[in-house]
Amino acid sequence: MPNSTKIERVETILWDRWLLIRIYCEDGTVGIGEGGVHGWQRPTRTMVDTMADYLVGKNPSYIEHHYQWLYRSSHFMGSVVQGALSAIDIALWDIKGKRLGVPIYDLMGGKTRDRVRCYMHVGGTSKDELVASAMAAVADGFTAVRFTPFPPDYYLHKSYSAWADEAVERVGAVKESVGNSVDICVEIHRQMAPAESIWLGRRLEQFNPFFYEDPMLPDSPARMGEVAEQCNIPIATGERFTTIFEYEQLLDANAASYIRPDVCLCGGLSGSKKVAAMAEAKHVKVIPHNPLSPVSTAACVQLDACIPNFALQEYTGESEPPKSDLLVTPLELVDGYLIVPESPGLGIELNEETLAGSENPKILDTPIGFDGSVQDR
Ligand SMILES: [Mg+2]
Repeated sequence: MPNSTKIERVETILWDRWLLIRIYCEDGTVGIGEGGVHGWQRPTRTMVDTMADYLVGKNPSYIEHHYQWLYRSSHFMGSVVQGALSAIDIALWDIKGKRLGVPIYDLMGGKTRDRVRCYMHVGGTSKDELVASAMAAVADGFTAVRFTPFPPDYYLHKSYSAWADEAVERVGAVKESVGNSVDICVEIHRQMAPAESIWLGRRLEQFNPFFYEDPMLPDSPARMGEVAEQCNIPIATGERFTTIFEYEQLLDANAASYIRPDVCLCGGLSGSKKVAAMAEAKHVKVIPHNPLSPVSTAACVQLDACIPNFALQEYTGESEPPKSDLLVTPLELVDGYLIVPESPGLGIELNEETLAGSENPKILDTPIGFDGSVQDR
């Protein structure tokens, strides 16, 4: 271990809809992290700033100790606390890797794979647009695509059977177009009640989806377990969960074939590595949630590279600005696989020339249904 150092300062950066942080050490090492509470970046930044008062002057090596201290420092927890803790945890792992000259996955058990299979987001207002989007992803080399089977405004005017029929038709059209060499992943975004999700899930079995994601609100693991039991397609869920304790309830209810830890929300690399091990003991695989910046992607890849039960990596494309501007050297993507980097820490550096990019905060908004009632986001 190199000589110890101390944390000098913590910097927060709001850019686009991301909260990025950098932790500076007295020896010149700089760790990068991201907090993943989408929509609550500003409160999460305030939480990081609050936690910085504790971190300054501390040895950055004691990652678990700092996590425990900060986690237990208040009676009350929640997503903003966990988003801040996650950003700090990722940055401290980046520091440790850089100071030791090794990738983070080397410090978490060593490499379990050389490349990470990704699924690409696709979509379209019409069925034809959806199919074209899926085919474009396949042409780019992706072997798995993910989409929502409903038209954007289905809850405004469709009858119960009409929107479900349309969902089945869309999933079938994508499956037929991409063929059996490409996996399809169906994302419901919590838009159905349990009975509806069972009914639609059974109708989608014929298309062999790789996963059926969040077919209902995730707040009740017991009810999600009933959906999982009654549909012969694998359930993927967990992106909103922030601690190992929520995942324990989910796994106990046999509610998921795939869990979706968000590395930037569920306790950073420390938290998500623990969650992955809990899932491993239940023969459940891991599909990290990744709707954020390329920093989040880089952190996900470090996790994917050191766990045995990795399945797929969510990927939203990083070839267009502002994402393509963020990193000095983007991660390498080859035929729908992210190549596990060999460089120390997260294996990335932020591009100083573009860091002055502007913030694009989420405006509070949620859909209103055909009768004026509030729908779930
Ligand atoms: Mg999702």
